[in-house]
Amino acid sequence: MGQEWQELRGGILVTAATADRALVNTGLVVGLRRALVIDTGCGPRHGAELLAAVRRVTPLPLVVANTHAHWDHFFGNAVFKNDGATQFWAHATAARGMAATGEAQRQEVAGVEPGMAAGEGPLTELVPPTCLVGADPAVLDLGGVSATLFTMGPAHTGGDLMVGVEGVLFAGDVLEEGAEPQFGDADRAGWIRVLRTLSGMGAEYPQMVPGHGKPVTAAFAAHMADSMEAGPGPARPGLEWGQ
Ligand SMILES: [Zn+2]
Repeated sequence: MGQEWQELRGGILVTAATADRALVNTGLVVGLRRALVIDTGCGPRHGAELLAAVRRVTPLPLVVANTHAHWDHFFGNAVFKNDGATQFWAHATAARGMAATGEAQRQEVAGVEPGMAAGEGPLTELVPPTCLVGADPAVLDLGGVSATLFTMGPAHTGGDLMVGVEGVLFAGDVLEEGAEPQFGDADRAGWIRVLRTLSGMGAEYPQMVPGHGKPVTAAFAAHMADSMEAGPGPARPGLEWGQ
């Protein structure tokens, strides 16, 4: 099925979460000279749907940011590279994670992206980041609007990238709406710390976009932190908790 957009404010959009795509969100920020795509989906099928949706909005050259090294957020990169994108931004730690675990993660998409799972067919190669964010934020000038890419420290993974633009924060899976947080690669204490910080950033970012589910506000980050502190789960990172 096609992807529909929700416009959060002028030129800043997010795909409406759909259950058949694991509720994963892709963001789009449209400048005057280029547009930024945040997360690329699960493989060539999903990526092509997303690219088609992007092209209904803008003909501009595209820049890509991957919020972290999990398959549903970067397996569609090859589709955007094929469209001409040359800049793929990610946290430096996420880039290492993609290199280390990307091939093994193909097994996760056997149901929805069999070509990607097998590594066979067009646009199934893993496209690694070409531009890395470390301790210092990176500011992308899209023409008339800038996006700030930054890290808040280990949380959902060791390499979570935040993308802030004009009152909207794309937080990747550090925020999860409508699904349990995933602790497989997480730093639990770090995640709670990051959520507490996010909960105080509502003035700067009145809208926050989770990696999955509907857009939320800073109060949701506080709610997640409370749940993590109170809920059952592993006391140390590296253990699954949630689904
Ligand atoms: Zn994730």
